[in-house]
Amino acid sequence: MKYVDHAPEAVLAAAKDMLRRGLVEGTAGNISARQEDGTIVITPSSVDYAEMQLDDLVVMDLRGKALSAKEGRSPSSEKLLHLACYEAFDDIGSVIHSHPVHATMFAVTHQDIPACIDEFSIFVGGEVRCTKYAASGTPEVGAQAVEALAGRGAALIANHGMVTVGPTPAAALHITALVERSAEIVWGARSLGDVKPLPDEVNSGFASIYSYLRQNPL
Ligand code: 13P
Ligand code: ZN
Repeated sequence: MKYVDHAPEAVLAAAKDMLRRGLVEGTAGNISARQEDGTIVITPSSVDYAEMQLDDLVVMDLRGKALSAKEGRSPSSEKLLHLACYEAFDDIGSVIHSHPVHATMFAVTHQDIPACIDEFSIFVGGEVRCTKYAASGTPEVGAQAVEALAGRGAALIANHGMVTVGPTPAAALHITALVERSAEIVWGARSLGDVKPLPDEVNSGFASIYSYLRQNPL
């Protein structure tokens, strides 16, 4: 089972970085990490990242029961999405849910982001699939996301945003930023002409590198 050392510090730093990079607005999105004892540290629901401190984070068990939480703090309303990812993928230490502008343009049109950029495919594993629609906070969001994440570091959540998985919060945030950048490139490139996919053999080679890096993070 993959876990993150100093998980609360890593979650908090990534949460502030996610806001700074404009990958969410206000209190949107959420970040979690798995600890050595199997518990999950997750950002609280509806707290401004700029103000967030270590003691605002919530520790929960794998059923989503809060084990420690400051008064007035409850786990993210998307805790079921995070828990579904940890249950499905033993090799991940962190889950990030975000609302980046360009990636969400693909999510609202239920389009996958094609694998057409080298750096993107190595870190994500292939095209970023979009789920079917499910209402925010429901168990269906988690089930759909797990399906779309098979062999991938990221998926789009229909009419909503993105979810990424990785060894650490910093790595999952890197994937989030890379997918958002790729979505912006593809969106712009489509106004110039046809977007050419990477050759199949290149994509399958990159998918193998992604699988290797997922097991052996740099
Ligand atoms: P929380 O503030 O409850 O984490 O919710 C934010 C969000 O993005 C819901 O989808
Ligand atoms: Zn959301």
